[in-house]
Amino acid sequence: ACLLFPMRNALLYRSATQSALRDPLTGAGNRIAMDQTLSREIEVARRHKQPLSLLMLDIDHFKQVNDTYGHSSGDEVLKAISLAIKGQLRNIDRVFRYGGEEFLIVLSNTGRESAALIGERLRQAAHDLIYPILDHPLELTVSLGCSTLLPAESADSLLRRADAALYVAKREGRNRLAMAS
Ligand code: GH3
Ligand code: MG
Ligand code: MG
Repeated sequence: ACLLFPMRNALLYRSATQSALRDPLTGAGNRIAMDQTLSREIEVARRHKQPLSLLMLDIDHFKQVNDTYGHSSGDEVLKAISLAIKGQLRNIDRVFRYGGEEFLIVLSNTGRESAALIGERLRQAAHDLIYPILDHPLELTVSLGCSTLLPAESADSLLRRADAALYVAKREGRNRLAMAS
């Protein structure tokens, strides 16, 4: 009985600190968690001389999903995609909700070629997903941009290059992966 209250408080505290780092809709990490993880991963990559890659993923024409099926169906699609992404990754890879319908995947100890393979796998998985909108077969695709850490590069620059590559993937027709230069 003496332990009950401290234990309950400790559990409540843990769940509060965890939910402060998570996006409530998808359960993916939020921007605060993303910034923390990214700085730490860059530090680890430098210290251990390991590669580090990012994938920036954006759902194609997502506004149409909301416009056609409503916002709550859009929310279901976001949850489904986030789950599908996590299902394709290793335990050590982390997924963050970067913006509305944009996710950032941090691939530790992963170089350019492997990151490209993983990105392609994610693209395929999103395409193959059966979306939970009743009576409507929904064809949905995603575009991705990939960057790999350069010597002495900052987190901001690594993110900017993934974003620029994503922009190229969109411009070249969507439903594809583009690699940062
Ligand atoms: P593109 O292929 O160029 O990415 O087109 P898009 O329609 O996906 O991109 P755009 O940026 O025009 O629209 C993004 C949409 O995502 C608009 C916004 O309503 C929707 N969105 C953002 N956050 C949420 C959310 O939490 N839930 C839902 N249902 N929709 C969201
Ligand atoms: Mg989009
Ligand atoms: Mg977007």
